[in-house]
Amino acid sequence: MATTDSDHLDIESIRADFPILEREFGGNQLVYLDNAATTQTPDPVIDTIVEYYRETNANVHRGLHQLSQEASVAYEDAHDRLADFIGASGGREEMVFTRNTTESENLVAYAWGLNELGPGDEIVTTEMEHHSSLVTWQQIGKRTGAEVKYIRIDEDGHLDMDHANELITEDTQMVSAVHVSNTLGTVNPVGELADIAHDHDALIFVDGAQAVPNMPVDVEAIDADFYAFSGHKMAGPTGIGGLYGKRHLLDSMEPFLYGGEMIRHVDYEDSTWNDLPWKYEAGTPAICQGIAMAAAADYLDDIGLDKIQRHENELAQYALERLDEFDDIRTFGPGPGTKRGGLVSFDIEGVHAHDLAEILNDHAVAVRAGHHCTQPLHDKLGVAATTRASFYIYNTKAEIDTLIDALDDARQLFA
Ligand code: PLP
Repeated sequence: MATTDSDHLDIESIRADFPILEREFGGNQLVYLDNAATTQTPDPVIDTIVEYYRETNANVHRGLHQLSQEASVAYEDAHDRLADFIGASGGREEMVFTRNTTESENLVAYAWGLNELGPGDEIVTTEMEHHSSLVTWQQIGKRTGAEVKYIRIDEDGHLDMDHANELITEDTQMVSAVHVSNTLGTVNPVGELADIAHDHDALIFVDGAQAVPNMPVDVEAIDADFYAFSGHKMAGPTGIGGLYGKRHLLDSMEPFLYGGEMIRHVDYEDSTWNDLPWKYEAGTPAICQGIAMAAAADYLDDIGLDKIQRHENELAQYALERLDEFDDIRTFGPGPGTKRGGLVSFDIEGVHAHDLAEILNDHAVAVRAGHHCTQPLHDKLGVAATTRASFYIYNTKAEIDTLIDALDDARQLFA
């Protein structure tokens, strides 16, 4: 298990927990800078997965046998652990496990949006949303007649809060905002947005996919009505994510999916629903993944989310500094010295992002190239695609230097 001193991460000891980082490609050691897409998995989480399948594997909530009881207790406790991880004092009843952030968004859009929205209603979101929220609200708007409005971003990639105040009115039913932008790295003032939304009797949904893994999150301090995240971006497995919802909202909403596990009583005419959160977890859930996501929360808490945030901000600032040395490189989002998430998207004049990513891959440097599921934002920025380097607890400044050296190669190839 990684240990840390009072201020900084003990990177060497953290890296020792991630066996995949030792992989080499073409004689070069992997430099993994695609963490905003998916983070790597540390040994304690891998061990939890292996141990679960070796010792505990069984279906939950059904069997009276010992294995099923052990699996049920571990799976249910995992909900409490994740609730606690993001500051939800209501425990498991406010923590629904989903497949990922995208499913959490859709759960709220279908279970709340389809029933509550109609012509004349408005959904206010931002120009920097990930498609998982943008497309979902856009389509729910089309189906219900509700109008979707977008809060502008300024030159530096910050939300224009005057515009937010203009757009959020008595007609607004839902404000939906990304906490940390996966393209710009902007950390949005979601608490302030929550206050504005609530002043107008609207709800707020926060997409925390890039926040929960990287900084301390307190959904009650934000006063979020709903808050979504993914396990695979926080050192956990794929196939699992979370949706926090205020209890009275989760109580009053219709289920999103129907079937086994989510019912209390069924007859041929009608059905009633199980307690929270099971009402929203139809069918056999991702049991092992849920338990492993709780192990990931333990792992991150042991390191300290405040230290993780500081480390990632330092790496982002260093990357900005290094990229700014080159006149032909344009970086996006808040400039140097401004608080931001641990990622930097950039564009090199004359080199397509996909070509660049391929050349970086030849150096075993893994980055993301494309629109990062924020196509309208890229349209607004006037670029078809960008290259994104995103950092996590095991990344170092030396790895950013490797990235910069590899960029030089790309530049020479395309010069
Ligand atoms: N929201 C943001 C800000 C993201 O960065 C992502 C993934 O990149 C998502 C939502 C969607 O996450 P998932 O694919 O795990 O549903």
